[in-house]
Amino acid sequence: MEIIALADVHGDLDYLPAIGEAMARADLVLIAGDITNFGGRREMRNVLLDLQRYTPHVFGVPGNCDGPSVNQYLIESKIDLHCRRVDFQDWTLLGLCSWLACPHAPKPADARDMVKGCLDWLATQYPSDRPVVFVSHQPPSDTAVDCNGDRHSGSPEIRDFIERYQPVLALSGHFHDSVGQDRLGTTTLVNPGAFRQGRYASILAHADHCSVELRSV
Ligand SMILES: [Zn+2]
Ligand SMILES: [Zn+2]
Repeated sequence: MEIIALADVHGDLDYLPAIGEAMARADLVLIAGDITNFGGRREMRNVLLDLQRYTPHVFGVPGNCDGPSVNQYLIESKIDLHCRRVDFQDWTLLGLCSWLACPHAPKPADARDMVKGCLDWLATQYPSDRPVVFVSHQPPSDTAVDCNGDRHSGSPEIRDFIERYQPVLALSGHFHDSVGQDRLGTTTLVNPGAFRQGRYASILAHADHCSVELRSV
C-alpha cells in the first residue's frame, strides 16, 4: 500500500499542488494532526475540500492546534481516526489524538490516564490477522522523532503501545523539527515534518516492513 503521510499542516496548503499527483497516485493520504491552526469546522472543511480534490482516501487525527470541533468535522466526514479502527483494503488504521478523551470510556481527570484510556480501547480493537498503521499526533518517547530541541519529549504511553503491539508503521508529528524515521522493534516510526514547510513522506507499506522516503517540496 502506498501512503502519502502529512503532519502539521496548520491550515497552510501552499505546497499542496506540488504533491497533488503523488496524492492521486497513492492508495491513501494520512494526516498526523495539527491540520488547522487553532481553527474549527470552517477551517477543517476548507483543508479537507482542497485535499479531496486529489484523492477521496484521506484519514487523520486532530492535533493540539485543532479544537474539538475539528474532531467533530472529521467524525462527520467519516475520516476520523481518533480512538477509532478503520479497515482500509487489507490494512487496519488505528489513531490517537492525545488531547481528546476516549469517546468509548468516561473521561478521566488526568491527561496521562486519558491517553492510557484511549490506548486501552485501541488495544481491544487490535486485529490479530491484519497489518496495522497507527497514527498519532504525539510521537513515542525517546526516539528519533520526538526531539523538542535537545530534549526527548514524546509519550511513554504511546511508546509502550507500539512496543507491545508492533504495528507495521507508526506515523506521528507535533515536533516540527524532529523530522525522520526510526524503529521500535519491527515498527517503522515516521515524522514526515511540517507540511506547512513543504515536508511530507512517501511510504510503501508491506505487511512486514515499510520503505520510507522523506520528501521536501
Ligand atoms: Zn504542529
Ligand atoms: Zn502539535
